[in-house]
Amino acid sequence: MTKTETANMRNIRWGLIGATFIARDWMIPAFRNTGGTIASILSSSPERAADFAKASDIPLGTTNLDTLLGGDIDAVYISTTNELHVPQALAAIKAGKHVLCEKPLAVDFAGAREMVEAAATAGLVFATNHHLRNSGAHRAMREAITSGRIGRPLFAKVAHARYLPEFLQGWRLTNPEKGAGVILDITTHDVDSLRHILGENPKSVLCMTQTGTLASGAIEDGAMSLIEFDSGLVAQTHDAFTTKFASTSLEIHGTEGSLIGTDCMTQDPIGEVVLRTAEGEETLSIDRTNLYERSLRAFGRAVAGIGEPSASGVDGLWSLATGLAAVESGRSGQRVAVYI
Ligand code: NDP
Repeated sequence: MTKTETANMRNIRWGLIGATFIARDWMIPAFRNTGGTIASILSSSPERAADFAKASDIPLGTTNLDTLLGGDIDAVYISTTNELHVPQALAAIKAGKHVLCEKPLAVDFAGAREMVEAAATAGLVFATNHHLRNSGAHRAMREAITSGRIGRPLFAKVAHARYLPEFLQGWRLTNPEKGAGVILDITTHDVDSLRHILGENPKSVLCMTQTGTLASGAIEDGAMSLIEFDSGLVAQTHDAFTTKFASTSLEIHGTEGSLIGTDCMTQDPIGEVVLRTAEGEETLSIDRTNLYERSLRAFGRAVAGIGEPSASGVDGLWSLATGLAAVESGRSGQRVAVYI
């Protein structure tokens, strides 16, 4: 952790909305490792609220959102299923709380835009939990591109197919109202990573989906997309819940060089990046800071009035808009324009 990362950072008192896997296994340790305090946890079930609070050593477990928002907290972390993000965020913003919201921001674009605009109007920080832009591997690729080391980027390829662990084989495979499907779950992360690394926005998307071995009906558990960016760069993404033995990677190919990132679409600070040019191959040096902790430090600085969160609400709108366009393209077979 650098001095800049911790300078002027506000230690946040958090209220957690959603008794979820991501909160328990990833975010609670990150909140505590970055000087945060967790005041409360909201669940729709009194038993889950109490059990979660006890297991994670949180003073208050409640089923009442007003009780959580009326407590001594600075910010909420929303990790409920995707259809609940908008009403919960709007209530938090009305109560004057900063918001860190899980991706996808919502299941519909209008609701997502409403909450991002409401936070801006209220002067509150709104961040999207796109952790991958905090990956040292992704930052090394962005830096190499910004400093012109691969010339003009022409193509990108993201491999982000994995196997959905059995304990998560629930709403993601069965419930369209909650935003089921691999596109809103994983393609949204690819889009955010590419926007961050390339520094440009998607323009259109063409997607083919698959309902392979885990989902059923109209819900896709695999997808391949072609995404056209503003500069004309074309990116290919492969996302799946169904592949047990695939590895992850992110490649950018430019006029003067290629960046090959391996094992870098993960929650852990792992992965390698090789830069290949006319001079040969160079393995880039990578910072191994915990992705979620780096993001929370940026959030703490933003709350203190310094800088922006690592992924803003607008960043979340771009990934959602592209994800929704990919879903539409998968259904229609047509290329769909992306804009926010
Ligand atoms: P979970 O599947 O763990 O939980 C979702 C909801 O299911 C909870 O809000 C909870 O309701 C309910 N629930 C949890 N456990 C049980 C249970 N045992 N019995 C009945 N209901 C239960 O959510 P995830 O952690 O997988 O995902 C939550 C959000 O976080 C999503 O928006 C997802 O896209 C995002 N996510 C982001 C990641 C990232 O790295 N940025 C990684 C993983 C997820 P209640 O809260 O009412 O108790």
